[in-house]
Order: sequence, then structure tokens, then C-alpha cells
Amino acid sequence: MASVFSGVLQLTDLDDFITPSQECVKPVKVEKKQGRSVAKIQIEDDGSYIQVNQDGEKQKLERAKITLNDCLACSGCITSAESVLITQQSHEELFKVLRNNTNEKEQKIVVVSLSPQSRASLAAHYGLSSSETGRRLTTFLKSLGVHHVFDTNFSRTFSLLESQKEFLDRFQRKEQDHKALPMLTSACPGWICYAEKTHGEFILPYISSTRSPQQMMGSLVKCYFAEQQGLSPQQIYHVTVMPCFDKKLEASRSDFYLTNNETREVDCVITSGEVLKMLEEENVSLTDVTPMPLDTLFSNVSGNEYLSHAGSSSGGYLHHVFINAAKQLFGEEIKELTYKTLRNKDFQEITLERDGVVVLSFAAAYGFRNIQNLVQKLKRGKSPYHFVEVMACPSGCINGGGQVKPSLGENPKELLHKVDELYKADLPAVPEEDTHVAELYETWLQSVGSDRAKELLHTQYHTVEKMTNGLVMKW
Ligand code: SF4
Repeated sequence: MASVFSGVLQLTDLDDFITPSQECVKPVKVEKKQGRSVAKIQIEDDGSYIQVNQDGEKQKLERAKITLNDCLACSGCITSAESVLITQQSHEELFKVLRNNTNEKEQKIVVVSLSPQSRASLAAHYGLSSSETGRRLTTFLKSLGVHHVFDTNFSRTFSLLESQKEFLDRFQRKEQDHKALPMLTSACPGWICYAEKTHGEFILPYISSTRSPQQMMGSLVKCYFAEQQGLSPQQIYHVTVMPCFDKKLEASRSDFYLTNNETREVDCVITSGEVLKMLEEENVSLTDVTPMPLDTLFSNVSGNEYLSHAGSSSGGYLHHVFINAAKQLFGEEIKELTYKTLRNKDFQEITLERDGVVVLSFAAAYGFRNIQNLVQKLKRGKSPYHFVEVMACPSGCINGGGQVKPSLGENPKELLHKVDELYKADLPAVPEEDTHVAELYETWLQSVGSDRAKELLHTQYHTVEKMTNGLVMKW
């Protein structure tokens, strides 16, 4: 029988993100010796940098640009990448692609995949329901020249099903492979970057190889959809709308580059906040947009309403893997999960007991303090868990750094609560009951063979060597 604990995910320390490395921290005031004179660098209200020499002469400095590759090569920060000037993936870039996409012969098919967390964030901003926001965003994006608007809840169904299978496999080989468990989730690129750079070889075997919903959608759009449409993958420009900047880093990983076709599975990632900027730059308020029917090809919808997954608003991995494992391994049908809150609300656990013995022990660890504690426990051989849903952001993906910021005077915790409620208002979907996904497993994935199917649904991680410049923070 499942142990039942009280407690739901609550909002705690909203700022427990990874701290940016020294290289990426903006200087507030820098004094620089120029020969004998001293020059000061000051930041203007518009964010520009001005060098002021001793006799008061001012000179505007060029902004240093950090590309995604620089960012990936750095051994310091990754998450909370607001301070990183990302040039390849931005709403300006998307506007550019859409405006230049008029030549019929060279026209790209533009696909946008919306995350449910971004829909909820924009819904809270405009006072709409999450589904209504999706319908209106579909109208807005199509008015700009987007051809299809999909939903990453659909690709998340693949991620959840693969995670369930992977957990069963790891559980069954836990006696032979001492790093089979705990299985640590992999959908959060902030956590993955941290793991690769700070705990490399030790931690990577524990991390689930299952692709995140964004990269599952990458496979679906650039491989399956392209083939169905008689297109090559480069003829599709695939954009995702995500709650954080870290997803840009995920999309730019070399593992998700289709070398033969010289294209990425996801070409551009924009955040919820950037979608808001696009609306504002086009002088459009979503409240004035006429909603249109949702694209159903790769969307989790029932009629005109989106379906989402039960469990956390970071994807519900713990929820779905726990329920499946309890049933498959111990014949227990679990209808509802409630969690025991440990040292803080961002660290929760749940267990399944049989005859007073814990047979399954799962946890959710959000925010870097909890992640660091988890890693330390693992290193000391003191982790009691079989599975951990790991997310870099405190409170998870609804609190991602790319979500719409609170309006002037708006309380951030209240906004977060509102976004959470809107996210959870979507009707729940059960991954195992999704007939469209089951059909794709049978047709598409069986036809490509098991090795190729594995590539399309899974990925791998790599130890990243630390830079030794003396400035990198010790984690
Ligand atoms: Fe992005 Fe979610 Fe990870 Fe935050 S927890 S960095 S929003 S994937």
C-alpha cells in the first residue's frame, strides 16, 4: 500500500537558481587604470556602458556578446541565463525568419511548439484560461506567417512513457548495476548543464536517457512530420516556446544537430516573456485576438481544450513513473499521490510500502540547494531513493526564468500561484491511454527499427571539462 503523506508543492525560496559565474555577472562600477589616469565605467539607464575618463570625457563602449557556444563552453553558470546575450535564438530572429519567408520556392514551413507552462504564464498575464490563450496564440502566430502550432504536452507523453519503461528496466538491473538507481530525471537543462560540468562521470550514469518534451518534439517535427509532408528537415523552421532560457542551451546541444541535414531539431527557442514582447511589438493584446481552433496533429487536446498531465507542473515525471512502477512491479493501483515535505517545500518524497517495508522511494528535488544536498547524499552512499524528479528552478518550470515577469506592484508569489492554478486547470491526460501516441509507436517507431527509435527517443550526456581560469565558482 502506498504511504500517504500530506503536503502539496508550495512556493518557497523563489530565487534558489544557479548563480551566474563571475564572467557573466554585470559590473556595476568598474575602475580601470589607463596609463596614469583612472577611467570609470558606468551603466546608463538604458543599460549601455559608458567609459568616463579623468577629465569627464565619455565614450560609449560596445557590448560584449556571448553566444550560446561560449555559454556552453564556460564552466561556470548556465541557468538563469538572463544575463547572457543570446543572439542565435531570440524573438528578433524569429521575426526576421518570418519576414524573409516570402519567396515561395525557398519558403520554410514554420512550426511553433508551445509549452503548457508558457501558455499558463501568458494566460495569467492576460486574465484568460490556458486553453483560450493557446487558441488566441494560434491566431496571433499564424497571422505572422507560422504554419503550424503544436503543443509540447503531446511530445511529453512520449517522454513520460519512455521514462516509465526506463525506470522499470533500471529497477530490474539494480543488483548488477550499482548506478542503475536512483534514476534522475533529465528534462531540465539547467540541472543537466550543472551535472555535466560539476559532477561529470560520477553523476551522469544516474541520469535518465529519455529526451525532454522539447527534444521529443524535435524528433517528431524534423523527422516524422518532415517525412510525412515530403520535406527535408532543413525546409522546416522549428520554434519552441519555453518557460526558461536554458531550453535554448538544450536545443543547441550537438546531440540534437542533424549532421546529414545540417539542421537542428529545434531551430529557435523563445521564452514566454519573449512571446509577450512579440505581442507588444506588434501592438496586439491577446484579449483582443479572435481565438481559432487548435492544431490537432501534435497536440494533446480534447475538442478545443488542451489536456495536460497530472503531477507537478514540471511535467509530472515522479507522478507517472511512480504510478506505473507501483502497478508493474508490485501490482498496486495508486489513484492519488500525496507527498511528504522534507526540509523545505521544494524537497518532497513519497514511498510505497509492503508489509511495513519501503519498496519504492521517490523524491522531487527542486532548486540548487536541494540538488546539491541530493548529490552529496549520493556521493556518501546515503540516498534512499529509487527515482528523483530534479528541477533547477525552485517551484519547478512554472517559475522558470523566462516566464512573464510580474506587472508593477504585482506580488511574485501571488503571480506564481495564479500560473500554477492555470496550469493545473487543463484536463488531465493519462499517457498510457493516448491512442495517437500509441499509433505512432506502432507505425513510425516500429518502422524505423529499434536502434533508430532509441536515437529518436533518447539522448546522452557528456562530462564537460572545467575551465581553470581561477574565476569559476566552486559548487
Ligand atoms: Fe527550465 Fe524547468 Fe529547468 Fe527551470 S526547472 S531551468 S524552467 S526546465
